[in-house]
Amino acid sequence: MNIVIATTNQNKLRELKDLLQGFDVELLYLKDFSEHPAVVEDGESFAENALKKARAICAHTGLVTIADDSGLEVDSLSGHPGIYSARYAGDRATDRENYEKLLRELQGAKPENRGARFCCVLAIVSPSGTEKVVTGEYRGVIIDEPRGHNGFGYDPVFLDPASGLTFAEMQPEQKNKISHRARALHELRKILPDFLGMANQ
Ligand code: IMP
Repeated sequence: MNIVIATTNQNKLRELKDLLQGFDVELLYLKDFSEHPAVVEDGESFAENALKKARAICAHTGLVTIADDSGLEVDSLSGHPGIYSARYAGDRATDRENYEKLLRELQGAKPENRGARFCCVLAIVSPSGTEKVVTGEYRGVIIDEPRGHNGFGYDPVFLDPASGLTFAEMQPEQKNKISHRARALHELRKILPDFLGMANQ
């Protein structure tokens, strides 16, 4: 069975590919399709955006499609940057500009106001109209200076209290065992056999 992964973000692609290893499916990527619709992420939640992407690419390719939307929610900022994580410091902002903006907003914040969670929503959609959404989250703390060079996005400022490492200080395999994306994928793996069964009917 072919499944399309509907993301052009190379970092997410690599993580999703690693996390789906060992599953009996052939993964296809957006680059495998000469043209594909550009999907505007204008939903009001991670789930809306993930479903919108998955539906559009499924309609275009005629294949089962998985799309993800993810981001960082900081408790004391009422869940921001949330769905705006990728463009927190502006439409063309770099990862570094985004996390530097976050660090400025949390400057002087007490430890109890630094709680945050990474959230990942995966939507899977089949041409026959079957749809499922699964979620994964990982809680941590925003530190006041970046640490580490691995990963992407807010990884250098997101500390995992259990290991004492930021996500950017972890090896990819370590992050991929515990991350919000790993947890969402774990949920997806649980429902995938039934989903594919229904999708084939
Ligand atoms: P999306 O491409 O709209 O899902 O944007 C997700 C954004 O959330 C990314 O550009 C990052 O800024 C942030 N993000 C999501 N997952 C992670 C992660 O695993 N580490 C660091 N930042 C992440």
